[in-house]
Amino acid sequence: MAYEVTATRKRPVTFAELEGQDFVVSTINNALNTERIAHAYLFSGPRGVGKTSAARILAKSLNCEKGQSDTPCGVCSNCVSIAKGNSLDVIEIDGASNTSVNDIRTIKEEVLFAPNSSKYKVYIIDEVHMLSNSAFNALLKTIEEPPPYIVFIFATTEIQKVPATIRSRCQQFNFRLISVGKIKEILIKTSEELGLDAEEDALFWIAKEATGSLRDAYTLFDQVVSFSGENITMEKIRTKLGIAGIDSVNKIAEEMAKGNTQRVLELTDEALMGGVSIDQLIIDFTSYFRSILFLKHNIVKEALLGSNPSIFSKEVISIYSVSQVEQAIELLFKLYKDIRFSLNQRFELELVFSRLSSLNTYISPNEILKKIEGIKKELRSGSFSVEQKPQSEEKKSEELSEDIISGIIQSLRKNKLALASALEKATSWKLEGTALQLTFDSTYSGNAVKGDILSIKEKVSEILNKKIDIEVFIVSPSDRESATGVDEDLELVKRVFRGEVVNGEK
Ligand SMILES: [Zn+2]
Repeated sequence: MAYEVTATRKRPVTFAELEGQDFVVSTINNALNTERIAHAYLFSGPRGVGKTSAARILAKSLNCEKGQSDTPCGVCSNCVSIAKGNSLDVIEIDGASNTSVNDIRTIKEEVLFAPNSSKYKVYIIDEVHMLSNSAFNALLKTIEEPPPYIVFIFATTEIQKVPATIRSRCQQFNFRLISVGKIKEILIKTSEELGLDAEEDALFWIAKEATGSLRDAYTLFDQVVSFSGENITMEKIRTKLGIAGIDSVNKIAEEMAKGNTQRVLELTDEALMGGVSIDQLIIDFTSYFRSILFLKHNIVKEALLGSNPSIFSKEVISIYSVSQVEQAIELLFKLYKDIRFSLNQRFELELVFSRLSSLNTYISPNEILKKIEGIKKELRSGSFSVEQKPQSEEKKSEELSEDIISGIIQSLRKNKLALASALEKATSWKLEGTALQLTFDSTYSGNAVKGDILSIKEKVSEILNKKIDIEVFIVSPSDRESATGVDEDLELVKRVFRGEVVNGEK
């Protein structure tokens, strides 16, 4: 059902109705009530936070027929004509399209005539920084000695581009970005006034997307209302705007945490087929893992998390360690940068999601150091014990010969081309008793081998003519360098924890 959007954007009439700019409002109100009126005001700040609205309110406050005050009536003919933009005494000029000296010269001539039907003649010049230098100079003379009935209100998003000579002659007000909480509050009020039934989560999402601009919030709100009808829900926003819902993000993240790469890639495909863009998916996961990081640190403030803390998967929070979550965010940030130059954005995404699925075994360098220290202590105190394997004659370590290695790879190449290529990337083939230990620099190749370990096991057992187990180690180049000094320690940790070092860094 299409819904007629008529008046979601209610223009504020008084300063009290101007949202989110309390400091500006109280100062101006004060000036109005004590009749200290400046002849030039400069409103600066980001777009969409209320500068132009404030300028119109100021004009009404000065010219309201009920008298100058901080509460213009909004109904007298002056107030109404200002609101409609057709007051003869309130002239709005767009600095972006009236930049020449001639335009300013016209203003200079006009200001000599007293206002028609109001107390003040008010010039509102928007985007004033766009004026040319000569236009500024022409304007300067007027501001220096204005007739008593003239008030200039300049607005700009780029205060640094307004010449200091102009700035110093104006009363300046800095408008700020409006907080997410405040925008949500405003949207709740607006929905109520329009008789709409809106989920708080949906309004919170709109507020978050608006990044501090009330105008952007209203624009997005209008858009959402136009396809939502009288019920605004997060579900409708997701379907219409192609955003991965928290449910599907939770589901994918849970499979990542469990190391289930296959499900992760399948679910990712579903999300992409459902219309979510690759960009959006990366953004969603980055902010998701950021929230998980905050929750790991017991930060539950909704405004910081971007959502209610209860919607995040308990499983994901409990499985991942802080350093694993940090690693996830880092990988996603890098991915977002990398895909701009990627041959195939989708492959790039899948590669990183596959890496995220092996994060649960990631141990940060700091954690490794801590564990080594702990083991050293235990060794010294004598409380450390390792499970002793019975000594057998096979228990000796040897590198496989090149011939055998190429034999294995060649015979795999017939049916398992990708696997053979991944296997070629192994940096070491060490036979330790009945276990073949394969080491990889590349997480991608290592994971590819892990993903089809049975085929390798079969082939190697067949070629070596005995039952062989395969163990895969993934060590990033930086680990290998740093590990050479503490090789024994690293080996000890690996053996004791039966784990592997996945992509560490210094
Ligand atoms: Zn009025």
